[in-house]
Amino acid sequence: MKEAVGAIVAAAGRGERLGRGPKALVSLAGRPLLRWALLSLADCPLVSEIVIAAPPEEETAVRRLAGDFPQVRAVVPGGEHRQHSVARGLAALSGEVRWVVVHDAARPLVTPGLVEAVIRAAWEAGAALAAVPVADTLKEGRERVTRTLSREGVWQAQTPQAFRRDWLERAHRQAAREGYVATDDSALLEKYGYPVRLVRGNRLNLKITEPEDLAWAEAWLERSAPVRVGIGFDAHRLVEGRRLVLGGVEIPFPRGLEGHSDADALCHAVMDALLGAAGERDIGHWFPPADPRFRAARSLELLRQVADTLRRRGWVPVNVDLTVVAEAPLLAPYLPQMKINLAEALGLAPEAVGVKATTAEGMGALGRGEGIAAWAVCSARFPGRSGP
Ligand code: MG
Repeated sequence: MKEAVGAIVAAAGRGERLGRGPKALVSLAGRPLLRWALLSLADCPLVSEIVIAAPPEEETAVRRLAGDFPQVRAVVPGGEHRQHSVARGLAALSGEVRWVVVHDAARPLVTPGLVEAVIRAAWEAGAALAAVPVADTLKEGRERVTRTLSREGVWQAQTPQAFRRDWLERAHRQAAREGYVATDDSALLEKYGYPVRLVRGNRLNLKITEPEDLAWAEAWLERSAPVRVGIGFDAHRLVEGRRLVLGGVEIPFPRGLEGHSDADALCHAVMDALLGAAGERDIGHWFPPADPRFRAARSLELLRQVADTLRRRGWVPVNVDLTVVAEAPLLAPYLPQMKINLAEALGLAPEAVGVKATTAEGMGALGRGEGIAAWAVCSARFPGRSGP
């Protein structure tokens, strides 16, 4: 077993070219960029602790979004340049750490395997970085080409980059003394004569800089995320003295659905479908009927809570379709508002929500109008390598 490896995540970038606020907090397929990077670092078994250099004034937000990773040791405010942020991160690593892997939050698609490969190369060589050979022809010039550069032996540097801690600390100290500022840590070691090994990275480990980078990463994650489907069913009796609420719409009718909450069978069916797609337990487990907190609860609100919780866990709903069976009243006039309510609660576009109504043609209990039932299916994606 080698000595302890600490990770520093450089997450203080302002994200000016992206134009959506501090870059680490920009959402990619439902999760902040920083969280994607943390998932891979935390999944690499060689990394024992993580320090995050956060955007100044966003330390609280960063602590909140990193709070469930036991490896996170500290969140420090980032400095003026990336290099200063890494230096502050170095100072916050624990005394046992002998090896440091530095990664940019702006590279959310890094894999645990690449982190491990770079650390192992550093164990052999003292310092290593992920890089990819340049594929495009390189031109030099301002408005006009002055020359074509050789791309022979030219690499594009990425992170992760891993180093002996004492080398990295010495290089940072010397650079601070000389006022030398570089755009990555490898450059500091190169400048002061340390050998740095190249590890072939991959192009998917792209750096999110421009809005189109975000679009690429999002497309990749969604393409590679499996779609899961869930089913939900619910039925309630119609009784005197209750309001009739379906899909969050109150419908004038002499009877209403009987139940502990507002008995909105349509919302209940959608909730179970959503929970089913996520492989979660059913609505009765989330909101036990015996719990007085849910007495007369608005089911549309409960649906919103379930959807929000699942989104925080990384689930992205794709669409919902449902059929409600009611002999009476006639539901057609209320369907458009139900669709809007459900879409809003689920964070979906209205066209991703299907709401249909039919009767049971007089057959059976539903046909006699003893109650109302709903069936729902929901699909959702879980982009990413692992949850939560
Ligand atoms: Mg129910």
